[in-house]
Amino acid sequence: MTDPLFQYTSSKRHTLDTSSERHTLDTSSERHTLDTSIEPVEIIPPAQDFGFAVNTRLDGALGRTGTISTPHGDIQTPAFIAVGTKATVKAVLPEAISELGAQAVLANAYHLYLQPGPDIVDEAGGLGAFMNWPGPTFTDSGGFQVMSLGVGFKKVLAMNTAGLGNDEVIAEGKSRLAHVDDDGVTFTSHRDGSKHRFSPEISMCIQHQLGADIIFAFDECTTLMNTRGYQQESLARTQAWAERCLAAHDQLTSSRAGRPYQALFGVVQGAQYEDLRRQASRDLASLEVNGRNFDGYGIGGALEKENLGTIVGWVCDELPESAPKHLLGISEPDDFFSAIENGADTFDCVSPSRVARNAALYTRDGRFNVNTAAHRRSFTSVDAECDCYTCTHYTRAYLHHLFKSKEMLASTLGTIHNERFIVRLVDDIRASIDSGTYAVFKRDFLGRYYS
Ligand SMILES: [Zn+2]
Repeated sequence: MTDPLFQYTSSKRHTLDTSSERHTLDTSSERHTLDTSIEPVEIIPPAQDFGFAVNTRLDGALGRTGTISTPHGDIQTPAFIAVGTKATVKAVLPEAISELGAQAVLANAYHLYLQPGPDIVDEAGGLGAFMNWPGPTFTDSGGFQVMSLGVGFKKVLAMNTAGLGNDEVIAEGKSRLAHVDDDGVTFTSHRDGSKHRFSPEISMCIQHQLGADIIFAFDECTTLMNTRGYQQESLARTQAWAERCLAAHDQLTSSRAGRPYQALFGVVQGAQYEDLRRQASRDLASLEVNGRNFDGYGIGGALEKENLGTIVGWVCDELPESAPKHLLGISEPDDFFSAIENGADTFDCVSPSRVARNAALYTRDGRFNVNTAAHRRSFTSVDAECDCYTCTHYTRAYLHHLFKSKEMLASTLGTIHNERFIVRLVDDIRASIDSGTYAVFKRDFLGRYYS
């Protein structure tokens, strides 16, 4: 049996010299070995096409507007990054995502590693070329999915943790199908039960093949339920992995010279503990391998909604001001304000498309379900103030009908609206910072949305 998931390792030009047995994986049916042999390559200095410039600072807070430059274009920040987990924003064409103003797309290394395999994406010319998205792209490292979809958790990062014991969200023994050791994570695919292993080096190889403009260091994603002792142990591991990611990235960047430069972001963990978050931020900021530092930083881990802004603030307070910061995964409109004013420049959020597929649509007056009986005869747009394709061409009654009859177009039209709503909200927040009217905009928006 040849495992297509490991075909990419046979490509010499992408090999990573680690010359260590630790990257071998015994799946009991066959021994898969990452080809880590060195092949001499002409070293050409990588093009430094990545940059970040701060434009306007928010008075008395860490928030700012800025511009991230990538080989595939600029991102005006703060920016909402549309989630295209499997190299597609579900139900919509990339052209529609571009038309509604999204500046960048984030896909997931874990999902694309399992299907179609990073070698295929590489052969296609990278993530953007593969999915016909000419703009900037991100991939996250797969750390979160390895732990959650790899069935490491009984529940996927339960946010409502009241009343649960420390171990109740972490599956034990046989039922725990993601196992972390100091070298990496062995996990079971959520798709077919096959066994796999991610390590910092493997994640970097995969993300280099996927070819996104911004990639993330491989980290261990803990839950809020882990003990403080475990968080500390995990943090030490994430820090060691960060250094290995930087080393692997440095080598891959050199060996793949001539390709568009990929920026590597270190990921800050530390759960809800201020001292751990601050220390982790300082440790990552001081990491240097062959003169290379992280190009930016991700803020990871489970965050309770009420602490989100505070935690982002601790981290951004410690990290270099000149570096862009990405908050990995947030949910609702009020979270954007908390994240932005505490220093997050970009963030991804699966909610707009996920809830749209369940008929939940955003308006300036709050979220509503278009599939309820009240909208059977609503011959008005989803949101009278929205300029999206859905709102300018279709009625609530039509969307109601599509959702009721389970037509695919329901998801498409709903997603176009919700993504546009969030893109525009973040555009408006950015404009309000630039014009010095952030506080007024925030008060008005939140007052109306949550009234
Ligand atoms: Zn709309």
